[in-house]
Amino acid sequence: MKNRIALVKGDLAKMNVDAVVNAADETLVVGGGVDAAIHKAAGPRLLELTRSLGGCPVGKVKLTPGFDLPAKHVIHAVGPMWQGGGHHEAKFLANAYKSSLLIAQNEGFKTIAFPCLSTGIYKYPKEEAAEIAIGEVVKFLANDKSLQKVHFVVFTDEDHAIYARKLGERGLA
Ligand code: ADP
Repeated sequence: MKNRIALVKGDLAKMNVDAVVNAADETLVVGGGVDAAIHKAAGPRLLELTRSLGGCPVGKVKLTPGFDLPAKHVIHAVGPMWQGGGHHEAKFLANAYKSSLLIAQNEGFKTIAFPCLSTGIYKYPKEEAAEIAIGEVVKFLANDKSLQKVHFVVFTDEDHAIYARKLGERGLA
């Protein structure tokens, strides 16, 4: 398990993997944060395509090519907006990770990279979000033989510290 999980600090849009997971919103059109970085690096063909997809519900994903990205594909995952915790946010966030992993498995992808879904503009508390992210990935990999590497790509020192500690506690750092 340990050699199938990596913690990376940096820009998700630079990851050379089979699929990067985008922190998209339900429209799949407007976005800041990591979504903006992905669209900038992927070029205008990505936005042209996502405009035509009719959006995506919270907790679900849609797959596109990566166009000009180093990544071959983009899994557009819609995490929940934090509303205090009483609106099934934890379940929706877990589903966004699970759906991403499942589509990667179905497509035969070997490598995938996640940002910290929902923890930017959507304000999900970072500590709880990291617990869900790591928990879902560990659960999935325990029953999967196809994915070789899951990268957690963190953008801030704070997220790096949270993930390093949590992965360390599980013997995965
Ligand atoms: P959301 O709307 O789901 O909260 P954001 O893009 O605002 O999505 O934030 C999700 C996470 O992505 C945050 O932890 C933010 O720091 C991080 N982030 C922003 N830009 C990048 C990037 N270029 N590469 C990786 N992570 C990024």
